[in-house]
Amino acid sequence: MSSHRIAVIDGDGIGPEVVAEVLRVLDAVAEPAGFEYETTLFPWGCRYYVEHGHTMPADAIAMLAHYDAIFLGAVGDPRIAPEEVAGVGPVLAIRFGFDQYANIRPVKPLPGAPYPLARPAPDAIDFTVVREATEGIYVGLGGRFAPDDPQVAEIVAMRKVFEQSSEIALQTGVFSEAGSRRVIERAFLLAEERDGRRLVTSATKANAMKHGMSLWNDVFADVAREHPDVQSEWNNIDALAMRFVLKPESLDVVVAPNLFGDILTDLSAALLGGLGFAPSANLGDGHFPAMFEPCHGSAPDISGKGIANPTASLLTLAMMLERLGEQAAARAVEDAVRSVVAAGEVRTPDMGGASSTEEMGRAMAGIAAEMLAER
Ligand code: ATP
Repeated sequence: MSSHRIAVIDGDGIGPEVVAEVLRVLDAVAEPAGFEYETTLFPWGCRYYVEHGHTMPADAIAMLAHYDAIFLGAVGDPRIAPEEVAGVGPVLAIRFGFDQYANIRPVKPLPGAPYPLARPAPDAIDFTVVREATEGIYVGLGGRFAPDDPQVAEIVAMRKVFEQSSEIALQTGVFSEAGSRRVIERAFLLAEERDGRRLVTSATKANAMKHGMSLWNDVFADVAREHPDVQSEWNNIDALAMRFVLKPESLDVVVAPNLFGDILTDLSAALLGGLGFAPSANLGDGHFPAMFEPCHGSAPDISGKGIANPTASLLTLAMMLERLGEQAAARAVEDAVRSVVAAGEVRTPDMGGASSTEEMGRAMAGIAAEMLAER
């Protein structure tokens, strides 16, 4: 019987509420699916920060390295500025600590969930965004300078408005050949695993970002040549954003540098019916644990009320189970989530209902266990 060690960081706000349902569903499917697991709860995040002055202990990464997977609820607190949380929080520390360079976000709208488009029908959309998550413009390089600072003299001379400013800020992106290659490669491998159309679309903008994006484009062309069984194309990010709304059914796998991917994935969350429906995985190269997290944050406006939608977290659980090799359990959880959302009898307030997080979790756990017992 397979056995898995899972580190659980339930985090802040609605994090612990949705994670409770993840643990309920995991408990319901393990036995009928024939696997064992052990979870360890780490109480890290902003609550921890307020009490200890840091969001997790200094040896947190070393502790997590012993696990097969990490499940994270949500991190955030209105008392702490988002840029402060981002700098010290567990998400980036884990992402960089385990070199989780690929953020994977499936976009497969659930019939029954709120859906923003007049067309196509929600079940015509089934694509995955692979976002580069360790480099690009998010590496944190740059600074704020007075215009008379000699370090920026050449830059200030480029535009009159720079000279006239009291301050200028530089935000430098770093795009590496190997960093681009590994994430683009992963997108092609993902396309090869998918049924039907195998198409990888690259999000780019070489006409405006001529250094970083021309390197990205060269690597994309190179990897595409190595995968002749997969179709490939590139789209400038502005046109691609339109396509996400006007023709999302034409997409299969989209690979994007960090900033573009960040924006596209929230746009895809809108196609899914909101943040309560959007799952994600952060993957590295396999010798370290991957991290699974719903896309939403701590949602302080609804936290403590027991009304958060657990769907995003349970779809994320399905992704984690698949990655752990528990295909039957993964399919049962995804199918159970889809069937509860489609039936519409148990619905949290974001879906127009009055059910609680727990009621939805219980309904999904029951159906997932039944499905496995029948298989
Ligand atoms: P944070 O600062 O932690 O990111 P936030 O409120 O800025 O918190 P999110 O937590 O991502 O950002 O939530 C944005 C809004 O989406 C929330 O105000 C909430 O109403 C809604 N939302 C997010 N997640 C859920 C969920 N699971 N169920 C229902 N509504 C949700």
